[in-house]
Amino acid sequence: MNTFQDLGLNEDLLKAITDLGFTKPSEVQDKAIPILLNNETDLVALAQTGTGKTAAFGFPMLQKIDIDSRTTQGLILSPTRELCLQITNEMKLYGKYCKGLNVVAVYGGSSITDQARDIKKGAQIIVATPGRIKDMISRRLVDISKIEYAVLDEADEMLNMGFYEDITDILSNTPEDKCTWLFSATMPKEVSVIAKKFMENPHEITVGNKNESTSQVSHEYYLVNARDRYNALKRLADANPDIFSVVFCRTKRDTQKVAEQLIEDGYNAGALHGDLSQNQRDLVMGSFRKKQIQMLVATDVAARGIDVDDITHVINYQLPDEPEIYTHRSGRTGRAGKTGISMVIVSKSEVRKIKSIERIIKKEFVKKEIPDGMEICEVQLMSLANKINDTEINHEIDKYLTNINELFEDTTKDELIKKFFSVEFTRFFNYYQKSKNLNISESSSDRDDSGRDYRGGKSDSTRYFINVGSKDGFDWMKLKDFLKEQLELGRDDVFKVETKESFSFFNTENELKEKVLAYFTDFKHEGRFVNVEVSENRGGGRRNDRKGGERRSSKPRGDRRSTGANSENRSSRRRSEGDSKPRRSGSSDSKSSKPSFDRPRRSRR
Ligand code: ADP
Ligand code: MG
Repeated sequence: MNTFQDLGLNEDLLKAITDLGFTKPSEVQDKAIPILLNNETDLVALAQTGTGKTAAFGFPMLQKIDIDSRTTQGLILSPTRELCLQITNEMKLYGKYCKGLNVVAVYGGSSITDQARDIKKGAQIIVATPGRIKDMISRRLVDISKIEYAVLDEADEMLNMGFYEDITDILSNTPEDKCTWLFSATMPKEVSVIAKKFMENPHEITVGNKNESTSQVSHEYYLVNARDRYNALKRLADANPDIFSVVFCRTKRDTQKVAEQLIEDGYNAGALHGDLSQNQRDLVMGSFRKKQIQMLVATDVAARGIDVDDITHVINYQLPDEPEIYTHRSGRTGRAGKTGISMVIVSKSEVRKIKSIERIIKKEFVKKEIPDGMEICEVQLMSLANKINDTEINHEIDKYLTNINELFEDTTKDELIKKFFSVEFTRFFNYYQKSKNLNISESSSDRDDSGRDYRGGKSDSTRYFINVGSKDGFDWMKLKDFLKEQLELGRDDVFKVETKESFSFFNTENELKEKVLAYFTDFKHEGRFVNVEVSENRGGGRRNDRKGGERRSSKPRGDRRSTGANSENRSSRRRSEGDSKPRRSGSSDSKSSKPSFDRPRRSRR
């Protein structure tokens, strides 16, 4: 393997490398740097996250641009604000001995005039998110007509996020004869399309295997009833007391809901999704970096570019709609040479998706069992014992020791230990003592209503009545789209949609019931109330037209009463779910409603 000196980097850069403590080039750096330094060429480089791609394009760019000129010569496009800032920081560190270097970050959610001013001062390199720079180009706040090097960093993620047209647009403002360097973790079709469109005979570098997810990551799935999803998540967290994880949900709402529920149940959790302000997101990411948050519940888009290295687990609370996205999720763990685990919680109706993911990642999942209560108690107990063993003694205690010793005069060491551990253990034990087995088998004939395929047996799904129909311009497809859009649901989440003249029926899995009913409480569409109720009629269709007839009046009393009944049902349902939370179940300590045993932070330090 080469040293950085061997690669042909100049003194200023080598000095910075020494300061950074990089001792030898990573594989992608070893391969890319000499090519980029010695040729005016296009390049496609495939390498996993955490392999040092920033330096692979950063050093050559810094060496090749003319720092004495104030013209913008390098443009780096990156998918998210976080990555954009991170790359900018790295570039500044790499170029700290390049006198006169000015690297400017350009991204949304921050003052465009400030950014324009920084560029005006003479930025040789601009690091940008596609949306913001496109905006700046159209407002003539930036001139990229003379750039010599364009980098598309995390190209697969940019395309995944729908930046294809923005990228095309941006690059059309750059010179034909520039060099384009594309870096990506995976090589989906879309990336090859971009490579073909914007590059001429690019050099190609592959580190590790194409499209193969990181070998450091093992993949596990857990089969549970859809309604047990949340409890399964909690058990997985409880069984891994030192977990430091990203939990992926499919929608912003679920993300927020799961995070709130976890917090309420005493976990160190936080939500990261697009409905939060930039400031809120920064705060959450800050706490996550400091590990004050152990479970970061996130949407796919918001989690792009999470650059935290020691994530131990990725938990797929729900599977993504597109199997390709799974690669991005699982790639958040197993970084920087560490190992990681990607866990998937699936209900029976989703098991087939595991197969298609296996084809993409070219690895097999291991089917695992959600640990039972006593296993978790044991893990927690041992974790507590280890923590106590590792604890540094705080000698402030010394002055109280005489009194404490007096109290325990007649207690043996054995007894003392048992008592001490019982303080924490009993609460946890009480919660899990009567807990049931959450696992279901793929072939079970389903006596506990866990669900044949939800399209068939229906035991896992809820049927609803909705007071709109073909009269209102809906056919089943339009209604399905409408529901999916309103509720932010995935492709398969709404099914058995049946439209009649003035009303319709549809199904969702039971776990969505609360969400659906809550969403359509006092919901108005095009000026009138749209009412959704659980239909007792599983077959559908035999309901009389009464509801439809009421729809023009502004919510008749009868209707309102039925909504009221619904919300009552819902709150009683909530109550019974609440009972299943650990903090409420038979806690031996009536003063604290939240046993700290299952709250990792409390028992942590
Ligand atoms: P990628 O873009 O491939 O995900 P980064 O460029 O963000 O990876 O690098 C990941 C981490 O590794 C960063 O913290 C970076 O400073 C560090 N790093 C990069 N190159 C080296 C090296 N040669 N030796 C040690 N650490 C490195
Ligand atoms: Mg990177």
